[in-house]
Amino acid sequence: MVDVPHDSATPPENVYLLQDADTGLDGVIVLHSTRRGPAAGGCRVWRYADRAQMVGDAMRLAEAMTYKNALADLPLGGGKAVLNLPAGNVNRPRLFAAFGRAVARLEGAYVTAEDVGTSVADMEMVRAETRHVAGLSPQGGRPGGDPSPWTALGVFASMQEAARRRLGGDLQGVTVAVQGLGNVGAALCALLHDAGARLIVAEPRPGVAAELACRFGAEIMNRDAILDARCEIFAPCALGGVLDRRGVERLRAQVVCGGANNVLATLEDGDRLADRGILYAPDYVVNAGGIINVAAEYLGWSAAMAAERVQATGQRLAQVLDHAERQGLAPHRAADALARARITLVSLGPARKAA
Ligand code: NAD
Repeated sequence: MVDVPHDSATPPENVYLLQDADTGLDGVIVLHSTRRGPAAGGCRVWRYADRAQMVGDAMRLAEAMTYKNALADLPLGGGKAVLNLPAGNVNRPRLFAAFGRAVARLEGAYVTAEDVGTSVADMEMVRAETRHVAGLSPQGGRPGGDPSPWTALGVFASMQEAARRRLGGDLQGVTVAVQGLGNVGAALCALLHDAGARLIVAEPRPGVAAELACRFGAEIMNRDAILDARCEIFAPCALGGVLDRRGVERLRAQVVCGGANNVLATLEDGDRLADRGILYAPDYVVNAGGIINVAAEYLGWSAAMAAERVQATGQRLAQVLDHAERQGLAPHRAADALARARITLVSLGPARKAA
């Protein structure tokens, strides 16, 4: 998967190419910004057509992490690692040990974690080489492990806020079309079902879709048709770039709020949503629950503090939407503006006394 990006606004601070013929390591670590703290963002493993595509994906994902971490008010910058999946049999412990050594060489400037294509077991291998990693097995009730349930919780809290604003109430009886029933999408469906929402779902794995439909009374739609679903809320939880010009035209929903990264193919597609009167809850604002859990693990916060911060995702969305209304901006542009302001304010540092 190559997440289709927002247009890049600022160049990264550093880009490190990773290559080790012995273990098959072929990847890149991008430090987009360390102004607010160590550059934090997961390690994605995917098969890319060429190095340019891999580096481009990592650069855009790293920049999105800078914005996400700033708006979630975390003392972290933004970064990302991307590894090109070697052909043939992969010795994952050796691959991730080599990756861990690369992370160690950055001496804490980059903090890694799970992402698409990586697991808790992979991060345990990284941990043997460096302490600058999260997404490990949780210890003694402390934050850790799979961040997806936290991401889903933050999306759910945001959806409640968006529904209150646009639909004038809670999620009881509201129809939500969920695209993708992976880790985030399935956890989100459970929360929505408990809140009394009606579900329409699309997922390429028929067994997964059937099982979830049975549990929650969901209607299954063909994955090519989910954008046309008659629903109040569309929740993209699969791929990036689903809302391009044609995608925006097809939507019947009044709200877009989901877990996927880089939902908009371009910034102009966000403008098109606003022109159609569809409320877009910006992706990196609403899907920050996972990185909040990662930050809590890395920085040693309690589980209660992590949960409180994830629950506050709805309030952070409200701030972005209020700013958008005040400034006459579409929500995705308001989010970018607020994030950039936070990054700039930190980079100025504390005020100094005039000599
Ligand atoms: P996942 O791989 O577990 O789930 C993705 C699901 O989408 C899979 O079930 C897949 O079969 C399905 N899918 C693929 N193509 C589809 C299509 N055309 N239509 C419908 N479904 C399709 O991934 P995840 O961890 O659930 O993450 C989902 C999205 O959320 C990704 O964009 C990811 O970058 C983003 N995200 C995840 C987290 C997290 O904590 N896991 C945090 C932030 C953002």
